[in-house]
Parts: sequence; C-alpha cells; structure tokens
Amino acid sequence: MSNAIPVRNLAVGPDDNGKIHTRKFQGFFRRLRIAGGTLLFTLFFGTVWLSWGDRQAVLWDLSEKQFHIFGSTFWPQDLVLLSAILLICAFGLFFITVVAGRVWCGYTCPQSVWMWVFMWAERVAEGDRNQRKNLDKAPLSPSKIYKRALKHGMWLAISLATAVTFVGYFAPIRQLVTDLFTLQVTGMAAFWVFFFTAATYLNAGWLREKVCLHMCPYGRFQSSMLDRDSLVISYDAQRGENRGPRKAGSDYKAEGLGDCIDCQMCVQVCPTGIDIRDGLQMECIGCAACIDACDSIMDKMDYAPGLIRYTSDRELEGGRLRILRPRLLGYGALLVSFIAIFSWAVMARPMVEFDVVKDRGLFRFDGKGNIENSYILKVLNKSQHSQTFELRVSGMDGLSLIGHQNIVVGAGEWREMPVSVTAVPEALDRGVSDIAFHLDSVNDGGERLVETSRFIGQPNQ
Ligand code: SF4
Ligand code: SF4
Repeated sequence: MSNAIPVRNLAVGPDDNGKIHTRKFQGFFRRLRIAGGTLLFTLFFGTVWLSWGDRQAVLWDLSEKQFHIFGSTFWPQDLVLLSAILLICAFGLFFITVVAGRVWCGYTCPQSVWMWVFMWAERVAEGDRNQRKNLDKAPLSPSKIYKRALKHGMWLAISLATAVTFVGYFAPIRQLVTDLFTLQVTGMAAFWVFFFTAATYLNAGWLREKVCLHMCPYGRFQSSMLDRDSLVISYDAQRGENRGPRKAGSDYKAEGLGDCIDCQMCVQVCPTGIDIRDGLQMECIGCAACIDACDSIMDKMDYAPGLIRYTSDRELEGGRLRILRPRLLGYGALLVSFIAIFSWAVMARPMVEFDVVKDRGLFRFDGKGNIENSYILKVLNKSQHSQTFELRVSGMDGLSLIGHQNIVVGAGEWREMPVSVTAVPEALDRGVSDIAFHLDSVNDGGERLVETSRFIGQPNQ
C-alpha cells in the first residue's frame, strides 16, 4: 500500500452543487455503528447523572481543582497521570489504525457519531436523498419552511442537550439544569453552554466531513501508520472491473464485465462524497457505508458479497492476510506497557501529600529563653475518608513542637497551618541544623510521611 493517500477536492462532489446528499442504506456495518453509537451516547448522556456518595460520580470540579471519577479523586499534582492517559489513547489509536485503518473515525469519533445523528434528523425532517435534492431546488413555500425549521430545531435540540451534558461534567449537572430552567445560571456556565451548542450545531450540522478533512490532523498522518497488511476498506478492482450495467441474468463475464454494475450506490451513501473505486483516499473516514450499500446490490444481483470489503493491500494482490506482524506487535507491546505502568502509578500514588515551608524569619527567643523557628505545614488528603495524623519533629535533642500535634484532614481536603518548633540553645552545635517533621496517620494502614527542613539558631559558645 502506498503511503501517499491522494487528497481530492470535495467541491467536485457527487452532487452538482457540491453538497453531499447521502442515501439511506441498511446493512451489517450500519447496525454495528448504531450499536456502538448507542453505547457511546448512553455513556455520555448517562454517566453525568450518576452519583457517588454525596457527589456527582464523574466531575471535573474546576473551582476545587479536583477531578472525581467514581471512588477516586485526582488533584493538579496528579497531572502526570492525565498525560499518561493521553499517551495510552495515542498508542491505542496507533494500534487500532495499524490493525484496521480509520475504524476510530468511522465508528467512535464524536464528530462522526454526532454527524450520523444529525444526518438521521435531516432525513426525518426532509426525506431521503432525492427528496432533499428536490427540496434544495424548490422555491420557498410553507412546506419547505416547515421542513427546514424542523431540521434545524432537531439539530439545535441535540446540540443543546450535548452542550448541557458536556458542561455538566465540569459543573454539577443537577444544579446546572435547575439553574438553566430557573434562569439563574452563572454568566460563565451560560457562555459555555452557548459555545458548545453552537460548536455542535456547526460541526455536526454544517461542517461535517470538512472537520475530518481540514481540521483533524489524524486523517493527515494516518497514512504513515498503515502498511500493506492493514485492514482498510477497499474496492476489489480485479473482481469489479470492467464496471458497467448489464441485463439481469446475462453472462456478463462473457461480455467482458466484472461484478461492479456501476450503480453508484457506494458513492451515494458516502458521507464524504468520494468514490471508493478510485482507491484509498484521505477523505475516507472508514465508515463502511459503501460496504453495506454494495453488499445489498451484490445480494440483489445474486453475486457474492465483498466487492467492497475490509481487506489488506497484500490480500488484494493475491497474498495472505497477515494480522500479527512486527509493527503491530511493537505498538501492542508499548500499549500494554503504558497501561501497566499507568495502573501501577494510579495504585501507588500517595493519597496524602505533606509539605513543610520554613518561615522567612530566622529565629526568635521565646519567653523561657528557648530558640523558636516557625513553619507552615500543608497536608492534602486525597483519599475518600477523613484522616487523623500525629505530628512530631526529630533531628536534635530537646526539640519541642508548639501546637497542632493532632491534625484532622477531611476527605479530599487541604489544610495549611502554622507550627513552631523550639530548642534549648545548649542543644545547638551549629547555626543551621537539619530536622524532620513526621506525619503519621492514626488510621489503619495509613501513611507515614517525612519532610525535612532546617532549624536556625545561635549555638551557645
Ligand atoms: S468511501 Fe466508504 S468507508 Fe470511506 S467514507 Fe465513503 S462510505 Fe465511508
Ligand atoms: S455499489 Fe458496488 S456495484 Fe454499485 S457502483 Fe459501487 S462498487 Fe459498483
């Protein structure tokens, strides 16, 4: 397979005005996509309403700078884990692309999933391909206005539901919906709901395949990931050519014809308006609509299915399909390693963070002639339960801790407190001594943390 995927000008689309009017079709891959899309929709629209204890189960709480996902809470300090997730997603995408081309684009990319839903709404409001083409050409009439209004009304309703749900992952959804209905929503929340409604409406309703072609970088670099064994949607030219119409039941092979009857169905169902018979193109988002359309034609003609199918370049040229190969195993090994490291990092991440900052002042003498230093302690409890800690200090003889020996930090809370440490001057043998603060959890299996700092004083000469 050539690594250079040709780019075609979509303005020269299948319709004379350059607009793509897709035809309705049925088939196995359409059912598969509907099943996948339904699952994604259910997850997206449903998860935001789940509760965990007394809070939303999945919530990126921007005001508290915490990300809650069911029983776990992540803090800005865990940002490296987020980077790891992005890395895993990237390698997952590489892996799946090497196996089966752009299946991500065709089946699960939100742009595609929402685009198919918008196309369904368009068909409900304005009819199938020919009805829509006629509607475009028809003069303005009450019927045309009604159909257009119905389509845009459905698009806007889906966009608004999408936007509210999306914003609901960042601001508690129940409160957000109540605020929207009572017109008490904050300006910030209202802005983002408006922004995502407009973005969904424009992307899925108007821009559609142009997002895949001109805005998404993945389509551009996917060619470097494919090899001769990647499963991509291809037209079997050896079997299909010469294309052309024929009489039912005729001996078309004797007439020099192949299995392609040149019905254009594969072109008419394509959401990006390309002809897969021209070979693999960058505009192909791997949706498999052309497979379904062509298989239904093959069925009607009583020919074997699969004139357009998932196949590899090697297989098309008469070779054997090879699934397991070095590049795939390499990506797979990297993916498994990243997942393993990430899982370990999540399990092993400290659930308590402890920091000690020495006060800027050097030292002072308390009323008893002892040397006193001040510190600010910061304790972050990332766990889902309240924790009690005992604080002690070590490093020199005669050290005493003033205040805050027992510290309680609530679940997911952050406490900052000043403490003082005193020492008798006789215990100091130099101006600056190393000391250590110990934070021992009194909860079963709790953590024991140590932070070092400096004690400054004036030793007795
Ligand atoms: S060529 Fe086929 S698989 Fe590619 S986008 Fe068009 S219909 Fe989908
Ligand atoms: S749908 Fe099949 S038979 Fe019809 S034009 Fe496309 S490849 Fe040929």
